[in-house]
Amino acid sequence: MNASHAPIATQPAPSNAVAALLKRKPQFFIGGDWVEPIGADRIPVLDPATGKQIAVVADAGAQDVDRAVAAARAALEKGPWRHMKPVERQALIWKLSDLVEKHTDELAELESLNNGKTKFMATVVDLAGTRDYFRYMAGWATKLTAETFETSIQGPPGVNFHTYTRREPAGVVAQIVPWNFPIAMAAWKLGPALATGCTCVFKPAEQTPLTALRLADLIAEAGFPPGVVNVLTGLGESTGAAMVAHPGVDKIAFTGSTTVGKLINKSATDTLKRVSLELGGKSPVIIFPDADLDAAVGGAANAVFFNSGQVCCAGTRLFVHRKAFDRVVEGVSAAARAIRLGPGLDPATEMGPLVSREQQERVLQYIESGVRDGATVLTGGMAPNAPGYYVTPTVLADVRSDMRVVREEIFGPVLVAQRFDDIEEVAAMANDTPYGLAASVWSSNVSTVQRIVPQIKAGTVWVNCHNFIDPAMPFGGFKQSGFGREHGRAVLDLYTELKSVCVAY
Ligand code: ADP
Repeated sequence: MNASHAPIATQPAPSNAVAALLKRKPQFFIGGDWVEPIGADRIPVLDPATGKQIAVVADAGAQDVDRAVAAARAALEKGPWRHMKPVERQALIWKLSDLVEKHTDELAELESLNNGKTKFMATVVDLAGTRDYFRYMAGWATKLTAETFETSIQGPPGVNFHTYTRREPAGVVAQIVPWNFPIAMAAWKLGPALATGCTCVFKPAEQTPLTALRLADLIAEAGFPPGVVNVLTGLGESTGAAMVAHPGVDKIAFTGSTTVGKLINKSATDTLKRVSLELGGKSPVIIFPDADLDAAVGGAANAVFFNSGQVCCAGTRLFVHRKAFDRVVEGVSAAARAIRLGPGLDPATEMGPLVSREQQERVLQYIESGVRDGATVLTGGMAPNAPGYYVTPTVLADVRSDMRVVREEIFGPVLVAQRFDDIEEVAAMANDTPYGLAASVWSSNVSTVQRIVPQIKAGTVWVNCHNFIDPAMPFGGFKQSGFGREHGRAVLDLYTELKSVCVAY
């Protein structure tokens, strides 16, 4: 293993504005108000760069979930929300995006402090993405359409039929998200729900609740009617499970691990709730020898190391044509070695820590298992001597397709590199996984690209790029990466029920 790394800097003190937010009382946002938790269970919130507690939130119990669901139900059925015109919903969502933009600096700092990512990345990726996601989704509020159609119904003589469909809100939606892009995931969930007229009970991950709580302030400031969005904090197995099982919830939207996604899907079966799942991945990055190799090296490094590898569509399996393998893998390893690890609020930092001690240990154990199975560590593979949850960017070679490091989602900065000789072989290797979230193909030959894209079983295939996500591009998984497509027109299907209307006249 490569034991050398630059010393880790200390985390700068937060700004006064963020320091004040960290002192927020543990409360829930229910029915438009900040309310006291019913129970006494609390969850410490840590800065992953130091391991120190920075805030405390409440762990919502079943009664808190009841309150939030009741508020969402009342807002859906009795409040002003259901009578609002689409253009009014659009204006509210747009207003929220403006408030996100106005508070970008503070939200990016909060996200960095809580998640570990750099404030720079939080600003240009997470906050810009959140603002733009709300803006994009605001537009759909006024563009929901359905169909009228001719039927062949044989009625009594002289009776005609007018048949059409209506799109109606799916109802009360429970939304549960992970810790890797906390506020952006909130936008991905709340944006389409609000555009379609649903009401929400939203839960951020227990590790990263802080920006969601701040977003609730902005939702109130934007003027959404009480109960349209309710925000609970809590553990997955308590709050999350209670949300999923609640009979007052019509739909669940979940982003997280495949393991929890399966649990949620089973639990939702009892009440046949609508379920959309965006789950794990083990995405291939496939580099042909005719690619712009410099671009491919940089792209492959970013594909796996962006956000410390804590990305569901991270390019964690690198397949390089035999002719280019050494050059690409040496290039990616050199890029990995050059990444400066450090705390997110230090402007010199390029990669922050992982989100938690648990995640750091999990990633290190995966690396150890790879080594035990015979993999060679080309670079990284260690935790620097620092209190934060860092793992050095890691490249593993000499791996086989049956190793756990090749098969399982690690969710950290760990790349496994393999050689291939032709398109059919690499397509089979790329598809030899239970996951199917994303992939990237790097080639300057249009025929190669056109031949391989249809063979890849994944919800997104990038060509000569990776990890580029746009609100207009449907996003979701084949196979065990989930079901349903978020973003674009496709997400409207997840948040609406289609009603057929048949009028005899
Ligand atoms: P990770 O393994 O990346 O932490 P999880 O899938 O465990 O991802 O967590 C994603 C989200 O799911 C978090 O908000 C977490 O609290 C929630 N969660 C975890 N377990 C459950 C569960 N049994 N039911 C509902 N939500 C859960």
